[in-house]
Amino acid sequence: AEFAQLDELGADAEADDAAELNQPVLAVVGRPNVGKSTLVNRILGRREAVVQDVPGVTRDRVAYDALWNGRRFTVVDTGGWEPGATGLQASVAAQAELAMSTSDAVLLVVDATVGATATDEAVAKVLRRSKRPVILAANKVDDERLLAETASLWSLGLGEPRPVSALHGRSSGDLLDAIVDALPEAPRDAERAAGGPRRVALVGKPNVGKSSLLNKLTGEERAVVDSVAGTTVDPVDSLVELDGQLWRFIDTAGLRKRVQTASGTEYYASLRTKTAIDAAEVVIVLLDASEPVSEQDLRVVTMVAEAGRALVLAFNKWDLVDEDRRHRLERELDRGLVRVPWAERVNISALTGRAVRKLAPALRTALASWDQRVPTGQLNGWLSDLVAATPPPVRGGKQPKVLFATQAGIRPPTLVLFTTGFLEAGYRRFIERKFRERFGFRGTPVRINVRVRE
Ligand code: GDP
Ligand code: GDP
Repeated sequence: AEFAQLDELGADAEADDAAELNQPVLAVVGRPNVGKSTLVNRILGRREAVVQDVPGVTRDRVAYDALWNGRRFTVVDTGGWEPGATGLQASVAAQAELAMSTSDAVLLVVDATVGATATDEAVAKVLRRSKRPVILAANKVDDERLLAETASLWSLGLGEPRPVSALHGRSSGDLLDAIVDALPEAPRDAERAAGGPRRVALVGKPNVGKSSLLNKLTGEERAVVDSVAGTTVDPVDSLVELDGQLWRFIDTAGLRKRVQTASGTEYYASLRTKTAIDAAEVVIVLLDASEPVSEQDLRVVTMVAEAGRALVLAFNKWDLVDEDRRHRLERELDRGLVRVPWAERVNISALTGRAVRKLAPALRTALASWDQRVPTGQLNGWLSDLVAATPPPVRGGKQPKVLFATQAGIRPPTLVLFTTGFLEAGYRRFIERKFRERFGFRGTPVRINVRVRE
């Protein structure tokens, strides 16, 4: 049942791939020797070009992170594409097909000193069918005299040919402007970059000790402001200083008001929990360590993971836990929390104050992971080794290839794998486990989406 649930999650994640992909992908295509690699280096700038030899997952495709005018995007260089037995024209057309299905915009590079060849025309034909934006670069326009050749490329039917000299850098800024204009708007990440106290939700089933903990935190650690009135802080939140840092605890008014007697309150309690989780960046799920882990506990934990929030599990009432109970708890956790082995954990007592000061470091670790981004080059270097050592299982007689990956988003960290076929949930979990072994991401869910080339 748990596997089925995970599958569902994966399917959901794939369904909103487009929405998740907040770092758009630009694919660069064109015949050999038109200057694709030179142009990619130009786009990346000198700093990125140093990592040029970081291998992609397959040798024929390499992805890099690029930044222009504050816009981040991933550049996929198809420069090393080997013309297959099918001939140059067919293979470049196939390259264009692949580029189209795995990117948000395509940059077609044509050699202006040669003009449009039959191969260029074949590729243009493929690209014209695409719904994705196409930018046409007329490369090797090293000086004015070649501008006339550029105009002849209108014949490709891809709109305005943009003259550029990848070698000398001439007009490359204009080309980049056009690229960034063509790419879909993206950066949801930037939205919250502004700062302010990080938002924490404290949730858990009734009587687990939420209000006791809050009192402990605000009492001993000194509440800076409680029930702040004003426009920027919701009056039901509390600002709490922990470990020298200010945190905003969401909907603490709801925790203090004890509204657990009337009928139907469970519904409202869970609605309230859901709302608090959605409003938070990191969630403390409080569990009663003295009692068996319940379905209700697991539901809340699942809610946090599905909402994509950073997670700290706090086992409260530790003062009541003896040796025997501790062993039983570990077994319950092995079974119950298989879905969140990555969660931060602390054992506390709101009553005695035991280990309560460990909460702030745990929150910080979880948030740092939630914010963490692995550069594309590093990610693909790791992934290519992993996939080479343990390729995806064969399915229906076919072995899906993992082409490359990019971390498309943070908060939560979201990977997009570009593949030639469906990846089973088991293999995606394997990738996630190895990803965490290599890069950490303690305390945050990680989403792995798969984009399959059609
Ligand atoms: P790719 O096979 O499409 O990746 O092409 P490369 O980037 O390897 O370039 C092929 C050749 O064209 C190299 O010798 C480059 O130096 C040259 N080249 C690339 N861009 C320009 C340019 O803007 N002007 C001139 N004159 N040569 C260029
Ligand atoms: P809430 O419903 O989650 O807000 O839970 P409360 O904070 O009201 O706590 C419910 C009961 O558990 C109260 O009687 C608390 O005194 C008790 N309690 C809370 N934290 C602890 C703890 O760490 N140890 C023990 N032994 N009791 C606790």
